[in-house]
Amino acid sequence: MNRFTVKAFGTEAPEADLKQMNIERREVTAKDVEIDILYCGVCHSDLHTARNEWHGTVYPNVPGHEIIGRITKVGKDVTKFKVGDLAGVGCMVDSCRECESCREGLEQYCEKGNIQTYNGHEKYLDQQTFGGYSERVVVDQDFVLHIPANLDLAATAPLLCAGITTYSPLKHWNVGPGQKVGIVGIGGLGHMGVKLAKAMGAHVVVITTSAAKIDDAKRLGADEVILSTDEAQMKSNAGTLHFILDCVSASHNINAYLKLLKRDGSLTLVGAPEHPLPVAPFSLIPMRKSFAGSMIGGIRETQEMLDFCGEHNITSDVEMIRIQDINKAYERLLKGDVKYRFVIDMASLKK
Ligand code: NAP
Ligand code: ZN
Ligand code: ZN
Repeated sequence: MNRFTVKAFGTEAPEADLKQMNIERREVTAKDVEIDILYCGVCHSDLHTARNEWHGTVYPNVPGHEIIGRITKVGKDVTKFKVGDLAGVGCMVDSCRECESCREGLEQYCEKGNIQTYNGHEKYLDQQTFGGYSERVVVDQDFVLHIPANLDLAATAPLLCAGITTYSPLKHWNVGPGQKVGIVGIGGLGHMGVKLAKAMGAHVVVITTSAAKIDDAKRLGADEVILSTDEAQMKSNAGTLHFILDCVSASHNINAYLKLLKRDGSLTLVGAPEHPLPVAPFSLIPMRKSFAGSMIGGIRETQEMLDFCGEHNITSDVEMIRIQDINKAYERLLKGDVKYRFVIDMASLKK
């Protein structure tokens, strides 16, 4: 297999800073496209993985799974894209394509394990996959998305993870008009959850630990805001929500949020904190409540989400950074100090 070298930003160890390094990519095979990366969003999962908080990180690790770029090369059997097209890549670059989940278009739940954009297994080169904090990426066309022409490119990058991760559970749990939906944690995922739930017609209630985000939450589309650190507000809103999407990246008391659900309501976790979240049986039993999880979304649904965002003119609120500022950005992410997604201008790596 022919390979080529590209510049990237990655880390050699859990406690090490990210720094510039060279990585190898495969040359395009028959169904691959090569993408020159223009923008890459910074997801909290990048930080969890770079620091081995979920265990199993293979080093060196190059994060980045909110990738927008332009196609520079296509394999001989590529039909979906041509050179010069805009393209997006999210959290997966392949899956088995044969199992029940894959056949249903739910590649994220591939029973043999989907191949993640970074820290997955690059079968052609027998090495770990490397993500979007890099100059170029080579991906099978079936895992590459079309980008709506009317959206700002940098602000569209976060849709590839934060967008689909919130869109998919909102659809699965039938969020829409007549429903009161809580979004917990207004970071990259949460702020997209607010915009998407609102566009789906729901009454949106933001639940935040940050008093400083209350005005913003309303600007993003929230109908109401609950400050979760204020016990009186949590108590007066008990039993009011049909559905809650929990987008929190750190340990928190899930039982306090379950109290906000109505009878038969569901709380779905997309946030993936490092440590277990203890659930009291009587947080669920008396009102037949459900506690669930959801992972990103399939390729077909990711395209549906991008088209939905194109129609409704929805993008992420972004703060642009240079790749050289990624370590500072991670520290700010840990403090909840981002409005609401860092996006790397990848031109900074090419200089
Ligand atoms: P983020 O931008 O850092 O946002 C996390 C938000 O959580 C913060 O802005 C804060 O919101 C809230 N928060 C932080 N610490 C808290 C605490 N101790 N108690 C209560 N709330 C707290 O992160 P992100 O990129 O949106 O990612 C969120 C989580 O989703 C991460 O764990 C990430 O790995 C995970 N994720 C999962 C999937 C999936 O497929 N399931 C996909 C992508 C990401 P407030 O200031 O509003 O309280
Ligand atoms: Zn992500
Ligand atoms: Zn599969």
